[in-house]
Order: sequence, then C-alpha cells, then structure tokens
Amino acid sequence: MTGNAYGDGGAVRRLAAEARARTEELRGELLALSHAIHADPEPRFEEHAAAGRLRALLGAHGFTVEAGIGGLDTAFRATRDFGGEAGDGPTVAVFCEYDALPGLGHGCGHNVIAAAGAGAALAAAALMAERGSPGRLLVIGSPGEEGGGGKARLIDAGALDGVDAAVMAHAAGYDAVARTNLGRLSLEAVFTGRASHASAAPEGGRNALDAATLLLVAIGLLRQQTTPDSRIHARVAEGGQSINIIPERARVELFVRSLDSGYLRGRLLDAVRDCVRGAAIATGTSYTFDEVAPAYDPVLANPVLADLAAEAFGALGRPIPPGSGWAGPAGSTDMGNVSQLLPALHPYVCAVPGAALHTREFAAGAAGKEADAAVLDGGAMLAAVVTSLFTRPESLERAKAEFESATAGGGGRA
Ligand SMILES: [Zn+2]
Ligand SMILES: [Zn+2]
Repeated sequence: MTGNAYGDGGAVRRLAAEARARTEELRGELLALSHAIHADPEPRFEEHAAAGRLRALLGAHGFTVEAGIGGLDTAFRATRDFGGEAGDGPTVAVFCEYDALPGLGHGCGHNVIAAAGAGAALAAAALMAERGSPGRLLVIGSPGEEGGGGKARLIDAGALDGVDAAVMAHAAGYDAVARTNLGRLSLEAVFTGRASHASAAPEGGRNALDAATLLLVAIGLLRQQTTPDSRIHARVAEGGQSINIIPERARVELFVRSLDSGYLRGRLLDAVRDCVRGAAIATGTSYTFDEVAPAYDPVLANPVLADLAAEAFGALGRPIPPGSGWAGPAGSTDMGNVSQLLPALHPYVCAVPGAALHTREFAAGAAGKEADAAVLDGGAMLAAVVTSLFTRPESLERAKAEFESATAGGGGRA
C-alpha cells in the first residue's frame, strides 16, 4: 500500500479491496440478477423484466427508484444521497445496460454490465455510509444500447443534467480501462421500383432489390478508398415479397463509422449517399436515405478516470500495466455521447476470456464462472472509482480539468 502515480497513497487500491468484500457479501443477489437477465434476453426497448429486476434490487437496498424516465418505458433512475443535505457534494452516475441482441441473446454480455453496475452502486453505498462524505449516487438504467441510442435519448431528456461524472463497465474477452470506440451513424436506404411479373413481363418492372445489390457492391468497393478506422456495413432488411414479382421495395440498413466525426459526417457520409444514388440511377428506381436512430459519438476516454480504474483493477488481481490497458478500435457505444458531455469511464472486464463480443461463444459464456467473477470484480472496481470521486474531491476536479482541455476544440460529436 505504498504511493502511486496519483499520489493517493494507495487509497483507490484499499477502496477496491473493501468494495470487493462488499460485492462478495452480495454475491447471491448479484449473480442471481446476472443469470436471470441472461436467461431471459430482451431486445432493445423491450427490457421490461430486466429493468424491473434492477429496480427491485436497488429499491430493496435503500435507493429511491423512478421507472420510465426520459420517455423510455424501460429506462429508470435510482438515487441515494449521502452525508450533508440532499444535493450537497458531487453527483456521480453508474450506468446499467441490459438489452440483448436479436437472435443472439446476451452476446454482448449486458447482463454482466447490469449486475456489475448494481454491485457498484450497492458496494459504493455501503462504503459511503461509513464515511460521511456528501454526494448523490445515481444508477441510470439505459435501455436500447444495441442500436437504439438509449443514452442519447436520455441526454436529450435532461437525465444527465447536474451529473459530474458517469461510469459503467462493459464485459469483454480481456481487461482494459478504455477502448477506441468509433462514432457511428445509423442509416437506412429505401429503394422504390415497379412491380411486374418476373417472367411474363420483366421489362415492365424496375427492380428495387437490384438497387440494394448494387449498393452493397458499391460500398464494398468504396471501402478501398476510406481511412483505415472507417467501417461501413449493411444488411438487406427487405428485398421483395415473392419470387414471381419484380421487387418494388427494398430496404437496406447501414452503419457507417469512423473515429473522426468530421470525416464521418463529411466525406464518408457523402460517399455512401452517392453509392445509394448511383444504385438508384442504374436501376431506374427512386430512393430515400435517412438517419433512423441517434448518432453515437466516439468515446472520449478520460485519463484520470482510466487511471483510477487501472489502480482498482490491479488491487483486484487484474493487473493493467501502465499504458497497456487501452485496446484497439472497437465497435460503438452510446456511452460515447455521455463521454462528450462529461467525464466518463467505459472500461472492459474480462468475462469470457479471449472471446469476441457478438458471438455465440460470448453469449454462452456470459453466465459462466468467469462472467460471474467479472460481475463481482467489475462492481468492486467501479465502486472504488465512484467512492474515490466522492471522498477525494481533487480526483473529480482533475477528471473535469482533463475533460475541459480535451473538449476545448469542440470535441468529437458525431
Ligand atoms: Zn454490443
Ligand atoms: Zn455492448
């Protein structure tokens, strides 16, 4: 318990060890929660059972719970005040995600996120009750992370007003304090052609599925002329209704991503729009091309919060050597939008060693032994960070100063 780079004399490490003892006491409740959510996967904005389970657990442990915040039925907020008068001290939010992937269950391990978030809140509450420092701890249940932009919607509804810092922990195949998540646009191209008998009068038709096919080919070729961090991927969501009718309607869903928000909204979006237009011209169809869900901003990692997380990880037997805890480009998360608004932490806790997210392997492992350890350690790690922000105001001030300097040029809003 000697000093470290943060000059806190090992305070975060001690908090992590104490928080881990708390999550151990809560083992039965936290793992039952994780397993129940895993066994009952609910897709975005349909997470009624998962949100209900989280609300019940937090309510039973002294949090004041509000269901359906921000106009989202499956969002919630749970609040506990410590020390002083209500509203004294900083406000820190812990996010819980709990939506599943259509057809793939909990292949993103959001059951682990939910249970670790609940464990963080309960452990931090126990630690805070012994310390007397003032502060307000929020647990924000943010639904629809898989494509629905729940956090973006909650931000728009004012759910983060007055919040000083926000944290969560994502499950992964490794431990890391941050990852380079990309900005993302959620788009849809709809082609409209003309129906006709596919054999008796094909010359009378205009084939919308052909337009979709050309679009996929065009973006495949476009990938050769984009920056290495760009991602363009699509699926044909509608492509005609009968083999014997020239398809008159085709719908293509697209995600377009980049680390650079200006490039994403500029050259990349323009080029994809040209692919859509070219496909329509070639097939004699008409088209619409729209954003259909909130854009996800790139994650702005906060080095102060990441260092606190690394300290806590280390105390939990998950060592993250300095400078090595940042994994390469990843997917996208609506936590990116939070990170462009206030100091935020989005680390990864190893739950299914070596497995990639959004795979059947990860879905199968997300309620296994290692995933259970990720719930208890992830919760303790976050509890240590949260309690540190409450009890050592200088860490929060440094996190805010880092955020201010990183966003001084306008940040990375997608
Ligand atoms: Zn995911
Ligand atoms: Zn996820």
